[in-house]
Amino acid sequence: MSNIQCYQPEYVNCFADLETSCECPFCATENELDTSITFNWQNEERQSLFLGCETACREILLNPQALTIYAVNKQSETNIECKIEGQELNYLIFNLVTNENFSLEQSLYVASILLNRAEQEQEAENQEEVLERIKILADEFNLLSEQGSLQQTFCELPEIENVKSSVLALLGMVPLSLTLPIAQKIPFILKLSELSLMQKIHLDERKTELMTIWQEQLAPYFDKHPHILQNYVLYQVYHNTFPYHDSLNYGQMFRLLSIDLFNIKILCSIWKLNNDTLDETIIVKMVSAYSRWRMDKNFDFTPMLKKIHLDSGEDLLIGISLLK
Ligand SMILES: [Zn+2]
Repeated sequence: MSNIQCYQPEYVNCFADLETSCECPFCATENELDTSITFNWQNEERQSLFLGCETACREILLNPQALTIYAVNKQSETNIECKIEGQELNYLIFNLVTNENFSLEQSLYVASILLNRAEQEQEAENQEEVLERIKILADEFNLLSEQGSLQQTFCELPEIENVKSSVLALLGMVPLSLTLPIAQKIPFILKLSELSLMQKIHLDERKTELMTIWQEQLAPYFDKHPHILQNYVLYQVYHNTFPYHDSLNYGQMFRLLSIDLFNIKILCSIWKLNNDTLDETIIVKMVSAYSRWRMDKNFDFTPMLKKIHLDSGEDLLIGISLLK
């Protein structure tokens, strides 16, 4: 058994200090999962919480320091290894998302380019050299950002047509278990499920309406509270060891992360169709309900993606289209 690092984010520590018990749908359901989880590998350990729990979600999204990660030394308890390339890419992308030179979307755009390079060179014999080249590329993007030219390149990227509308139609099929008073919940659920029933022309109009709400009303709110969405993405990167996965490739992982971020923005925008204000409590309820659906074993995401023709092999481009 070797000596390894055990990672503890601030949100895990804060959650452990809470004295009240949670009664959210995640905690009230009799499932085999505790809110806390430890991922064990031979080469590292990560402590985390499930975002589907509302109390955990509040700790993860609303505390600007929630994704500060502490490390303690300990002995490894398993022989299963987290693949070194995936682990190194994970650290690199975590640092990208926290890099103040990039907006959240720009950092993910740069991540997609690094992942593309990693996929292209996956068969190369010396993966250490590949990682070095990827780190140099990341440094070059950092420099581009300081010069202001990354912003322009990102804005000029073409969007793949119909990607956003297709994802909206998919989101309309999601059965969200929102813990809201019925007078708030019903109008929201109606607007949400409408998305899966609309004809294309009306869906495109609704997409434009929701994107305008996002850009004009909500983006300024989230710009004032940048830790909320940044923490959401950082949590996904940390908790899922993004982009490392047993069965999905880097492109598929990137597409899923971009869809999740897009869907969170859209859920908040749908809320604004019926309500004047959006506050932290509503955001936490939206994100935790969405996360409960995402981890529901009975609800497999992949066939739904295939059904709406988003499994075209252009995963990185699809993901980038959703960031814009
Ligand atoms: Zn809970």
